[in-house]
Amino acid sequence: MASSVLFVSNTSSYGVTRVGVVGAGQLARMMGEASHEVGVSITVLAASINDPAVATCDHVVLGEARDRAAIEQLSGAVDVITFDHELVDLEHLAQMEARGVPVRPSAAALRFAVDKAYQRQALGAAGLPVPRFLVVRSSDDPRVPAFLEELDGSAVLKAARGGYDGRGVLFANTRDEAVTMIDELAVTGEVLIEEKLNLRSEVAQLVARAVDGSVMLYPLVTTVQSQGMCVEVRYPAQAPTHLVREASNLTMRIASLIDAVGILAIEYFITDAGMVVNEVALRPHNSGHWTIEGAQTSQFANHLLAVSGQALGDTAPTTGYAVMVNLVGGERTSSLRAALDVPGAYVHDYGKSWRPGRKLGHVTALSDDARSAHVTAWESARAYGTQTQET
Ligand code: ADP
Repeated sequence: MASSVLFVSNTSSYGVTRVGVVGAGQLARMMGEASHEVGVSITVLAASINDPAVATCDHVVLGEARDRAAIEQLSGAVDVITFDHELVDLEHLAQMEARGVPVRPSAAALRFAVDKAYQRQALGAAGLPVPRFLVVRSSDDPRVPAFLEELDGSAVLKAARGGYDGRGVLFANTRDEAVTMIDELAVTGEVLIEEKLNLRSEVAQLVARAVDGSVMLYPLVTTVQSQGMCVEVRYPAQAPTHLVREASNLTMRIASLIDAVGILAIEYFITDAGMVVNEVALRPHNSGHWTIEGAQTSQFANHLLAVSGQALGDTAPTTGYAVMVNLVGGERTSSLRAALDVPGAYVHDYGKSWRPGRKLGHVTALSDDARSAHVTAWESARAYGTQTQET
């Protein structure tokens, strides 16, 4: 794409911190919705005028996230840069930081989210619980046969870079299958081979971290996954107290190790052997969408408070129970109206065009009763025509 164009200016930004967001998907859209309550303005770097965040931001720069000229233009228009996704050019971001451009989280911190191989190596080296793993460039690596033997062929293969929502993650049952999958993924770069764990459940925790290193933890939640995609999030997590405590300790250790500013989201596996770290994201996360209605300060507001150098907001929940269900395009066109008609359902539409299998929005329900939050959220999701299935 040729050089980017600054083309929309919805409001004046006088006296507020100007935050530039690389990417204009649903996370940037929800940052836009939270921006005025925390006194910042948002300029997004959007690949298309139809991107979800264009509707809620103050200004738009049109361009690709990996186009250096576009990022430079964004940086010239704002006080600080942050991110909607991790498909970014770390080398360029590091150069910008060296020139004094505030990039939050920093390029060094972002590497944890951009590169799954680096993430496993760094967390493992710090003594954090991660699955047994090996990083290779091809199945010809001499260490591969012994490692697959150790795993008895039951391996998970992950592209080190570029995957999301289960894309770039393959499950092998035999050694031959694993070898084929390694070669399939190796065309994209390094491949992470890891043991397939027997999961009791999956949980996630968000933490907001300010410029001065102070942190605010959100409570642990259960995430229900299907085919690598998150279907439902439940607050509070369905986990025993000792694991909730263990997760908090791990989350605090990871936040200080990564040294990021903004929201960090840590996904954990609960296994028979205890908690294992799955993934770290350095941005608002699907597991925290419920905080828009369910917490004193949403993850989006806290991300913006952090990256704009302000004090963090209170992360305490405002509800006994919250259930969030993702709205994914089904076989027939979705019905936003029908979803909104369900009393007690907070429906968020991301302004994307309908396509089967596409994440189009989410719905949250709050209650003092776990069952009723679940029933309301799913009633609205079904009325919408979501492809996601209740479990
Ligand atoms: P993505 O980055 O695309 O979200 P993840 O690495 O989080 O991919 O993997 C997607 C899902 O695959 C996880 O939520 C989990 O359900 C399953 N999974 C990933 N790694 C393992 C593993 N080592 N053992 C068992 N299941 C796994």
